[in-house]
Amino acid sequence: MSIQIFGLPVSRGVAIGRAVLVASSRVDVPHVFIDPTLIESEVGRLLSARDVVATEFEVLKRDLPADAPAELAALLDVHLMLVQDEALVGASADWIRERHYNAEWAVSAQLEVLARQFDEMDDPYIRERKADLEQVVERLLRSLSKGKPSAVPDGGEHRDFGGDEPLVLVASDIAPADMLNFKRSVFKGFVTDVGGKTSHTAIVARSMDIPAVVGARQASHLIRQDDCIIIDGDAGLVIVDPSPIVLEEYRFRQRQSELERGRLARLRHTPAVTLDGERVELLANIEMPEDAPAALEAGSVGVGLFRSEFLFMNRGGNLPDEEEQYDAYRRAVESMKGLPVTIRTVDIGADKPLDGLSAAELRHESVLNPALGLRAIRWSLSEPSMFRRQLRALYRAAVHGPVKILIPMLASQREITQTMEHIAHAKRQLTEAGRSFGEVQLGAMIEVPAAALTLPLFLKHFDFLSIGTNDLIQYTLAIDRADEAVAHLYDAWHPAVLQLVANTITQARAAGKGVSVCGEMAGDPAFTELLLAMGLRSFSMHPTQVASVKQRVLRADTRRLAPLLDQVLYSEDPEAACESLLSQTNGGASPVARRA
Ligand code: PEP
Ligand code: MG
Repeated sequence: MSIQIFGLPVSRGVAIGRAVLVASSRVDVPHVFIDPTLIESEVGRLLSARDVVATEFEVLKRDLPADAPAELAALLDVHLMLVQDEALVGASADWIRERHYNAEWAVSAQLEVLARQFDEMDDPYIRERKADLEQVVERLLRSLSKGKPSAVPDGGEHRDFGGDEPLVLVASDIAPADMLNFKRSVFKGFVTDVGGKTSHTAIVARSMDIPAVVGARQASHLIRQDDCIIIDGDAGLVIVDPSPIVLEEYRFRQRQSELERGRLARLRHTPAVTLDGERVELLANIEMPEDAPAALEAGSVGVGLFRSEFLFMNRGGNLPDEEEQYDAYRRAVESMKGLPVTIRTVDIGADKPLDGLSAAELRHESVLNPALGLRAIRWSLSEPSMFRRQLRALYRAAVHGPVKILIPMLASQREITQTMEHIAHAKRQLTEAGRSFGEVQLGAMIEVPAAALTLPLFLKHFDFLSIGTNDLIQYTLAIDRADEAVAHLYDAWHPAVLQLVANTITQARAAGKGVSVCGEMAGDPAFTELLLAMGLRSFSMHPTQVASVKQRVLRADTRRLAPLLDQVLYSEDPEAACESLLSQTNGGASPVARRA
């Protein structure tokens, strides 16, 4: 029977494929297809891991102290039985043979199948054995990661041997750092139970331009391994087991959006200039140096936000040293071939923990209010040597091309003063060490209302401002951006937010300082005309969004837009006001699409 699950649309487009359910804690296990000629060798890897784990259990049992409780020996027997059970290893081998999954993926997929069977048991004793099964699988995965890796065909990388049918990932939650693995993964879309529209997991999905729905509550319980599902990333809808008619309708939409993409791609080399000749800078947001070529390819004229924290995540506390960071920043700078690269100092905390915890797990941690806690510049100032290490690496990278440094989440004069002291200190250290370094422009992110209301402080000390609307909305409206329970209240069109954004742009321009928007608002074409009307001429967004924003810029006339601004800002429903005013005034611009 077909069912529909509603969530939040976070990344556009349609994905149709078979569901792969993965437990949140195992999203980071490798998911690769095995070359058909190497299938038996992969099954061999699985069987060896099984034997290693079985021997471990036997040794543990043999070495139990004489006074150990009898239950312990019984438990080890259960674990031994589970690891040797065909329902686990035999069925996992089937996933390898039939679907060409690598062993780690096969075991995780089979765990999800068995875990469901356990959940459905009436007997509570048997239901609880699920935890034993998870422990056994954990050991198997550990053994696989220590043993020899999956074989790769001679002279080749892992390629897509999975057949024609795309795969989509379904998980309760995915940590932002794990999302990065998606860039190299086989999945064509994903669904999670939790998350908000501008949670970092959603942001990374948008950067990859793969259809995604988050906050779909029960999705990982309602969807079964291998179900056929449609992800409608525009409407925030997941359809499980669709009827042939619905499937055909979505296939049609997929083809339409491919055509539209092709049309937009032709704008790549067209300069972003409005009808009345205003030049607009469209910059890219990136997470890793490897994303820079895609930014160039998309036609962006620089990087407006390099979220450097992704270099710091999932490293077991082993943070990157100065050389590693210098190398990463230099690569980004060199890839951009002389265009400016704005690198933000580390913004760890809130829904971007250093080590793999997802937003939902974080909420269950003892950390109270992580979004209001030690994050971004607050964390950097509390770790001075880490902060100066990053600053030194950034200044050194500036030798290779234009670098701008952006400081996140500043709120007070005290933080500005401390930041400037660390910058001076880092430069002194470089001079004393005889290291060459370049000049950089310094920018402040305006993403806390306190900063937006005390702009002269920031304009005095910084060369430019960048408005982080994702956090500005979160902190102005007191809505946790990663919490799906309040996602309906997270409103980029709220007049308070729009007034803070407009005021920041006006004041920065009046002071002759550069100002851009690097939050998600900049990449949403529904806001393009409004931001232009506010006087914004620099937008930073995911490379995949550049073409559609450029299309809006090319059709806009800022002389017609500017007079509409006050009517939108001071309206009770700015979104409706914007849409209606634009459709009346339009000198060619298409009406603003209302949000789904
Ligand atoms: C923002 O807050 O708008 C922003 C760009 O930074 P991040 O999304 O990484 O918090
Ligand atoms: Mg932010």
